[in-house]
Order: sequence, then C-alpha cells, then structure tokens
Amino acid sequence: MRLLTPAMYAESIFEIDLKKLKDNNIKGLIIDIDNTLVAWDIKYASEDTKKWLLNLLKEGFKVCLVSNNTEDRVVTFNEELKLPAIHRANKPRRGAFRKAMTKMGTDINCTAIIGDQIFTDILGGNRMGIYTVLVVPIESKEFWWTTLVRRVERHVLRIVLKNHRKEGKK
Ligand SMILES: [Mg+2]
Repeated sequence: MRLLTPAMYAESIFEIDLKKLKDNNIKGLIIDIDNTLVAWDIKYASEDTKKWLLNLLKEGFKVCLVSNNTEDRVVTFNEELKLPAIHRANKPRRGAFRKAMTKMGTDINCTAIIGDQIFTDILGGNRMGIYTVLVVPIESKEFWWTTLVRRVERHVLRIVLKNHRKEGKK
C-alpha cells in the first residue's frame, strides 16, 4: 500500500503547492501528460496549462514530460512548449524516470513525479524513491458526454421495457 500512496495530493496541477515542493528540496519535475496536463483526446495544452508549465521554469524547476503514450502524441503536444520529453515511457518501470533525471540533471533526492495514475505514475515514482504528487484526472469532455448519453439511453430503455411489459399484460 505504501508504494501506492502519494506524498502529495492535489485537485489539479494548478492546486499543487510549489512552495511545499521547494521546501522538500524538489528541483526537477517529471510530469505526465494524459489526463494530468490535458484530457487524453485533446492534442494541445490550454493557455492556462502552458502558462503553468512556463511558470515552473521561471520558479527555477527543471521539467521533463514523461508519457506512456506514442511519439506522435508527445511530439505534437510538445510542439510549442519544447520541453524535454520522453514518450513510450513504460511507467511504472523505472527506465524512463532515470532518463528524465539525467535530462534534468537531478537525482532521486530532488525529483518529483506529477501524475494522475496510481498504478503508473505513483507506483513508478515510489519504486524509484522519488517524491510523488497525485492529481485528479482531467476528464475528457467527449468521454463525459458519451457516459451521459449512455446513462440517458439506459434510462429510456428501462422505461420502454417497463411499458412494453405492461402492454404485454393487458
Ligand atoms: Mg495520465
């Protein structure tokens, strides 16, 4: 269980306490992309997210994007940001975490992972021995919409079936 428990938890990236990270001697941030920075089906970061990422650099943090997604996804997302980035990271395996720390020039004592998934980001980070920050996953609007549509469909279907059964009894 300890391996699945984050050191810090935030409602979104914007709620992450950067001062607390600094107090914990964190200098490098490994950041997940899908559902952490942007919904999985959205190609580019929002203006607010771009601002947040660039502010990290201003605050003196080193940043490396680390995603299990494809090269295409990561390169497109990073087109404008031009941050150090690793695709097909195979989190929770440790290889990409090591690579990211090399890119940032940091070590396990001053690196944190920020991600939305317990079984990839948090487990991987804790296995590596780095500071872990769990954020609530960003829900895709499209996904939210299909879920709602399905729920309505099921509800309608239930009413239809009920009426159908009543009709049958008459
Ligand atoms: Mg993710």
